[in-house]
Amino acid sequence: MQENQEKFIDLINKKISGKNLKYSILTMGCQLNENDSEKIAGMLEKMGYSEISDYKNADLVIFNTCCVRENAEERLFGKIGEIKKLKESRDTILAIGGCMMQEKGMLQKIKKSYSFVDVIFGTHTMQNLPEDIYKSLINKEKVKDVIDIDGEIYEGLPIKRNDKFKASVTIMYGCNNFCTYCIVPYVRGRERSRKPEKILEEVKQLAEEGYKEITLLGQNVNSYVGNGEIKNFADLLNEVCRIDGIERIRFISPHPKDFTDDVIDAIANNEKICKIIHLPLQSGNSKVLKSMNRKYTKEQYLNLVNKMQEKIPGVVLSTDIIVGFPEETDEEFEDTLDVVRKVNFEQIFMFIYSIREGTVASEMEQIPEDKKHERFEKLKKLYESRVDENNEKYLNTVQKLLIEGTSKNNHEMFEGRTDTNKVVIFKPNEENQIGDIVSVKITEAHKWYLKGEIVK
Ligand code: SF4
Repeated sequence: MQENQEKFIDLINKKISGKNLKYSILTMGCQLNENDSEKIAGMLEKMGYSEISDYKNADLVIFNTCCVRENAEERLFGKIGEIKKLKESRDTILAIGGCMMQEKGMLQKIKKSYSFVDVIFGTHTMQNLPEDIYKSLINKEKVKDVIDIDGEIYEGLPIKRNDKFKASVTIMYGCNNFCTYCIVPYVRGRERSRKPEKILEEVKQLAEEGYKEITLLGQNVNSYVGNGEIKNFADLLNEVCRIDGIERIRFISPHPKDFTDDVIDAIANNEKICKIIHLPLQSGNSKVLKSMNRKYTKEQYLNLVNKMQEKIPGVVLSTDIIVGFPEETDEEFEDTLDVVRKVNFEQIFMFIYSIREGTVASEMEQIPEDKKHERFEKLKKLYESRVDENNEKYLNTVQKLLIEGTSKNNHEMFEGRTDTNKVVIFKPNEENQIGDIVSVKITEAHKWYLKGEIVK
């Protein structure tokens, strides 16, 4: 941690000690934002705040925003309105940070219509939060701490993890790809990779604390750039696999255009790396992919999948698909369905295209909403028609599960996940504990979960 952060953390700590002040963080968006929120929570706990889930009873409310999905703004402004009422009854500090604060015009909008917001921070200034909160709490200043240039990578921020056995480790920030529908490169800046030694240090620390599963995070993990012996993402994966105690390794998200053979080999050769690859397709049509600036064709994507399936026994794939991209025709959409049939993804995250102001695609000719919905329903139907068959493949197989907790619907049962991310419910024996990795034979396949029995 930097000296400045420590200084302000200490100052706040002295000021609020014994006052039992509470914080609440509302996180929107992806796993990277979740990981940022864990760091924000880590800083706040050091300052002396303690967490409360109901933000209505918090003394400090932080919104960690996302601007990738439609309606994010309305949701945020709705919530801000609720806090305004709270501020009238108790002296709640309201801080807003994250991707949306980096959007053009956002600062002015908040200044004009929501002037009661106390602290605004961006994606490159999260590490300044102790100082920002100090200025608001002690000096009663309105703080705007947003910069446009890519921030440095701050190491050593305190962190309060949400989970005890699974953890996310961010390996890089930003994105250079400028897919034409996406706002991320504008709000998160260009790619910056963490030093391999810092990543390995963090993973070793997690192993010592008893974590079993880690997910390496980045907007585009396979363009990770290291140094020395660990030059690229494949080297990093191989090295992380050598850390004792970590039994499962996942990563998200890779870009198909950067998926090199050495990464495929690393997955094939290391038992610890989960055999599910999230490979965002977005569209199955080469012309649409070109207008999305994805830099691969339908054929290249399918060849890559074939290569993975040949080299990695038992590999399964999940994906993201955008339906109704500007100018997409019915015929072009058929190509997406064709790829879905051919690859047989086990999981698809489907999105209806929506305009992100400031992106190239927002200027293109949009297609009617009903058309988008019609295509979405077609894709959903196709995907759902494959779910039973995909789940039945697991019947009578023995799967390793990381036990995540008791089942929400039946407290006598435990719930865990296979390395391919399937939820499995089973009756534990006396020795089984949350956080263990156990072998379970799959006995029933349901649409959204599997059932199994512990194998002695
Ligand atoms: S790779 Fe494309 S979709 Fe992913 S963050 Fe970068 S610009 Fe956005």
